[in-house]
Amino acid sequence: MSRVGLHKRYRIARKTNELPALDIAALDLRVADVPSGKTFSWQQNGRVVGTASCTVSGEHVLIEYKSCDRRSVSQRIRFASTKPHFGGVRRWFVCPDCGRKCNTLYSSFAFKCRKCVNAVYPSQYAYVRLAGEAEARRARVLLGTVAGYDPALVTKPKGMHWKTFRRLQKQIRSADVAFDEYVQARL
Ligand SMILES: [Zn+2]
Repeated sequence: MSRVGLHKRYRIARKTNELPALDIAALDLRVADVPSGKTFSWQQNGRVVGTASCTVSGEHVLIEYKSCDRRSVSQRIRFASTKPHFGGVRRWFVCPDCGRKCNTLYSSFAFKCRKCVNAVYPSQYAYVRLAGEAEARRARVLLGTVAGYDPALVTKPKGMHWKTFRRLQKQIRSADVAFDEYVQARL
């Protein structure tokens, strides 16, 4: 089965700390005049979920991202500059979807601003306990998947009963829906 469009079909609120994030400070733009390359990788549950090689060149960065399901995407992200009162120049990413200036880009496969990937900060839910969260976390580990992925597209692990597999998928799905409802009610 083709896994293209994995993230597109599963549009649900996510937590920023569960997505690969690229902070503009990590690119070290003080040396932006010189083209420079840097490689980043992100893990979840001890498993690499994506790697990116970033090449800064003048007013943009080329991000070549590979996700754990072996898909890759190439993006040219523009920089914007502002002049803070204390002097110097502050650089921002320009979100490729909405054009907003942002400090951090998040990957829901392609890198975008927090709003465009529909993600919330951990502090926005830190004191909330949603029913089924612990079960969903355990289910993701058992199915070898990570948050933000559609459980319907996960392959059943060898030796696992279909009944168990379906139950685990359902646990993930309902926790995701509960979280999404919680976030949507507060946006
Ligand atoms: Zn955006």
